[in-house]
Amino acid sequence: METEEMKLQVISHFSHRHPLELVEVEEEDDDQVNICSGCEVQILGSAYNCTKPSCDFILHHSCIDLPRKVKHNSHPKHPLILHFFPPYGDGEFTCNACGNPGHGFTYHCISCKYDLHVDCASLPEVEYREDHEHPFMLSYSFRLQDKAEGKGKAVAEEAELKDFECYVCHGPVEKGCWAYSCSSCYYCAHLECVN
Ligand SMILES: [Zn+2]
Ligand SMILES: [Zn+2]
Ligand SMILES: [Zn+2]
Ligand SMILES: [Zn+2]
Ligand SMILES: [Zn+2]
Ligand SMILES: [Zn+2]
Repeated sequence: METEEMKLQVISHFSHRHPLELVEVEEEDDDQVNICSGCEVQILGSAYNCTKPSCDFILHHSCIDLPRKVKHNSHPKHPLILHFFPPYGDGEFTCNACGNPGHGFTYHCISCKYDLHVDCASLPEVEYREDHEHPFMLSYSFRLQDKAEGKGKAVAEEAELKDFECYVCHGPVEKGCWAYSCSSCYYCAHLECVN
């Protein structure tokens, strides 16, 4: 698919003060890993790189068209605004989805100090795994006990045994972060493990 934008070799982008030029990032480009300045995920393929040699700002092609403002189901009270730097003094935010720190773009709620990585904001609400008969649903405040309580003590106790262990890697799933869970089996999985 070729859009008008792809034909433009040099652009100015609202997230950065220098012009950016279209480049192709190859797998082993001078042994250095190119991390997107926006979503902080490794770049392979087409990207926009800062034209100043001293500046290492680079964005995925897909990260130049991010919506400036989103309504997200995890935070229905307020819209989330795309910030190009973490709006905190130390230049870091903590993602309310995955619990990991972020240093690039963030979808931010000013009133609540709520932050989401760009990638975390676009996680699918349902994931399917070949090794499990039920869908895994994205849960925004992950607490398996709550679900089990309504179904009687035996189920609640059973749920507690399986509690907070990732279905895929068997590592602990942190309370309060997002997770994928199967509401029939009380299984859960880390965001990054489910697929
Ligand atoms: Zn990116
Ligand atoms: Zn620059
Ligand atoms: Zn995150
Ligand atoms: Zn808010
Ligand atoms: Zn896991
Ligand atoms: Zn299940």
